[in-house]
Amino acid sequence: MINANNPALTSWIEVPSNSDFPIQNIPFGIFKSGQLAPRVGSRIGDKVIDLKSLFVLGYLSNLPFSQEDFDTDALNNLMKHGKKGARDLRNRLSKLFSTDNHDLQGNTHHVEQVLIDADNVDMLLPVQIGDYTDFYSSRDHATNVGTMFRDPNNALLPNWLWIPVGYHGRASSIIPSGVPIKRPKGQTLPNEGEDPVFGPCRLLDFELEMAFITFDGKPLGESISTKEAEDYIFGMCIMNDWSARDIQKWEYVPLGPFLAKNFASSISPWIVTMDALEPFKLEGPLQDPKVLSYLEYEGKYHYDIHLEVGIQPENAAETVVCNSNYKHMYWNMAQQLAHHTINGCNIRRGDMMASGTISGPTTNSFGSMLEISWKGTKPVILKEGGERKFINDLDTVIMRGHCSKDGVRIGFGEVSTKVLPAE
Ligand code: CA
Repeated sequence: MINANNPALTSWIEVPSNSDFPIQNIPFGIFKSGQLAPRVGSRIGDKVIDLKSLFVLGYLSNLPFSQEDFDTDALNNLMKHGKKGARDLRNRLSKLFSTDNHDLQGNTHHVEQVLIDADNVDMLLPVQIGDYTDFYSSRDHATNVGTMFRDPNNALLPNWLWIPVGYHGRASSIIPSGVPIKRPKGQTLPNEGEDPVFGPCRLLDFELEMAFITFDGKPLGESISTKEAEDYIFGMCIMNDWSARDIQKWEYVPLGPFLAKNFASSISPWIVTMDALEPFKLEGPLQDPKVLSYLEYEGKYHYDIHLEVGIQPENAAETVVCNSNYKHMYWNMAQQLAHHTINGCNIRRGDMMASGTISGPTTNSFGSMLEISWKGTKPVILKEGGERKFINDLDTVIMRGHCSKDGVRIGFGEVSTKVLPAE
């Protein structure tokens, strides 16, 4: 077992019950606070840990890290030390903040420099993302979309059960939780047979996804096998892959989505490591037909991660509109990475790969408004009155995720994004 995952560990930092951030989590992110320049942080309970200060004060000695790995506005430097580096760092933090360790705990002056209230920091984009790939790996989602737009009897396209289908997205518009988005404008075709019109998107939607971040990959021309995949994945966050359904419908033929998807994708700011998620692995679904050899895998690569989505209109209570789970994925991360690289495509440190919309088998587990409202035919009734078919201006969409087992809850926090009117 990885030392930091021991369910019996407790921290001398107070951890509220139901916190996403017990000592068994130790995620990584980038924060700024007051006069402090952006830097690498971790989190336990409601305290953010300033890893630059921790390094300067000498608590991270005898690890392969240097000050520029922490005194920076992205996790990319830290990630160059690979899976072993990240594991050793997380184990060191676990040890330092364990109840029975007094190295730091006993030094009030140092504790004051290192711990900051989470309420007093701004969380920034954690990674400088090079390339962003979006998969389409939830069978229920692909089936729902195929049923709505094509043929309920042949909802999955012939390639879907053979290929982890994906497309190359845009990294420049990936933003952290808390940054509002403007309703996008674009071309749509309101009436078949007529000319398109230009204006604000009318069918703005969220997509509930999870994304993973890669370490350094292999050189161009080489592939990463399903067996090797875990060594190349740093950690995960929640992603809201915003989508403009009316723009998408008009533009996506023949090359796939373009402006309907690249105006914003919002992510939760803490990267939870694959090590922290290790205890929550599950068997995947039976894959029939049997996959081609390079997509075969041994072991468990699916994860039990509860996910929810809420819509909060301005000055009103939030209504949870979706309860899903990452375990519903058909294709797992090892298969996605193996497929992505099987042609020799190189991945790089800081690349981001998203799951595709995560829908479960029941209507309350659908991961987009397109599916929840079934193309707008079944509006969702909100708690304080009103209804939604898609997302309105001034709505805030909030996604949360956590794992829970043996009394340990490992969470991602949330990604919360307000929609502003089109300009
Ligand atoms: Ca997507």
